[in-house]
Amino acid sequence: MAGLEDRRKFYIDGAWVDPAAPDDLEVIDPSTEEGFAVISLGGQQDTDRAVAAARAAFPAWSATPPAKRLAHVERLLEIYQRRNDDVARAMTCEMGAPTSMSRADQAGAGSSHIATFIDAFRDFKFIRPLGPHAPTAMTAWEPIGVVALITPWNWPMNQVTLKVVAAVLAGNTVVLKPSEIAPLSSMVFAEMMAEAGFPKGVFNLVNGDGAGVGTQLSTHKDVDMVSFTGSTRAGIAITKAAADSMKKVVLELGGKGANLIFADADDKAVERGAKHCFYNTGQSCNAPTRMLVERPLYEAAIERARAVAENTRVGSAHDEGRHIGPVVSKQQWDKIQDLIQTGIDEGARLVAGGPGLPEGVNRGYFVRPTVFADVSNDMTIAQQEIFGPVLSIIPFDTEDEAIAIANDTPYGLTNYVQTADGARRNRLARQLQSGMVEMNGTSRGRGSPFGGVKASGRAREGGVWGLEEFMDSKQISGWDPDA
Ligand code: NAD
Repeated sequence: MAGLEDRRKFYIDGAWVDPAAPDDLEVIDPSTEEGFAVISLGGQQDTDRAVAAARAAFPAWSATPPAKRLAHVERLLEIYQRRNDDVARAMTCEMGAPTSMSRADQAGAGSSHIATFIDAFRDFKFIRPLGPHAPTAMTAWEPIGVVALITPWNWPMNQVTLKVVAAVLAGNTVVLKPSEIAPLSSMVFAEMMAEAGFPKGVFNLVNGDGAGVGTQLSTHKDVDMVSFTGSTRAGIAITKAAADSMKKVVLELGGKGANLIFADADDKAVERGAKHCFYNTGQSCNAPTRMLVERPLYEAAIERARAVAENTRVGSAHDEGRHIGPVVSKQQWDKIQDLIQTGIDEGARLVAGGPGLPEGVNRGYFVRPTVFADVSNDMTIAQQEIFGPVLSIIPFDTEDEAIAIANDTPYGLTNYVQTADGARRNRLARQLQSGMVEMNGTSRGRGSPFGGVKASGRAREGGVWGLEEFMDSKQISGWDPDA
């Protein structure tokens, strides 16, 4: 492992410490297929040590006045903004987000979440009256305790800030286990937490895999809550593992978003949808991967989506520009190739892209931006999350048919609607089964929570909802409003 950046230590109880036993893992750069850093996978002793540090820090931290907790997070935001490019560089190397996108979007998501939490927390009421009908009834919002945070590789800082910042503002102490595939940005983040002066034990980081540290945290008797983002498979495993210790489990899982495009949609609707599908090389849980197109627009939409795929440049994450990078790993590349082949075998019409590496590329986990038409919703490519730049186009004739197709999925994260008809938009917004519905290219408002229903999990992350997620509510009667 000579020549690799040594990131073997964990951050526990306010210090960078060696793992109890060596267990090296190379971190691979997906643009080059070469290892560039080495981390340690933790074991039970490391997990216990981090949980004990968090437990010991909890009484004092949860009793720290909210204004003081907020001051630490305000300091964190300043440090994060100063170190934006460090965290962006780490993500470029570990998961392949192209340099410009990584700085603006991947790293930028982190500072945006921290700033939004600061605003939400300033106005947060920890104790609220139930209503004039019950003058002595109050609801108190209280921290849960020691919280384990388990995060994925596809939007590393987005997930880490959504969890860590909300959890510590709420008064919890935390153990973060980032994805072992993309752990380095989280280690930069740990440096920022240290510089921001959080008391020792409030924030701890242990690297490890799902079978090791992930499971140890989920089953740990001294962990009160697990907040997880990742695959539905792991979400189910964590829920089962956590059951015996009765901890709170909050899950943010996969998606298979439908984008309903009606014939009266604006001219850019198809381009916007295809680009969104390919964004982050298709590795977003809220990607609109099923494009449902009303029949009169269908053939034109296929041509527009083909043009977007053919004009989407694929290249090294280390280059500047608005191209898309590789997918994260050989394992994901293989899975995506299998699914593209399955689409062909099941009879979908391949319009652009297809199996294999893009032309002229012979290393790196690069995928050709791929468009399938004539997809029926029961095909594997319409049902399974592909997590690569692969768009499936499905025709429909009526609004009811479009709703039925959109809802015929185990997932329910984000659906999208494109139509000039406001009444139809409002109808659809209520009938689509998902945690979020975004229409006519309008993004969710700042501070609105992110989360799903069904197999997408039922977390609500971000803003006020994201703070409440990390608290228990306590109902009190007999409160003296004048004391
Ligand atoms: P993954 O589920 O394999 O891993 C996610 C994290 O969970 C990693 O830290 C991993 O080490 C850990 N883990 C894996 N198995 C575990 C287990 N049994 N117990 C405890 N921890 C375990 O997912 P991934 O491959 O890293 O990420 C891709 C998946 O995440 C996709 O399905 C994607 O849709 C989903 N995702 C969802 C959201 C969302 O907000 N809804 C966001 C990002 C990613």
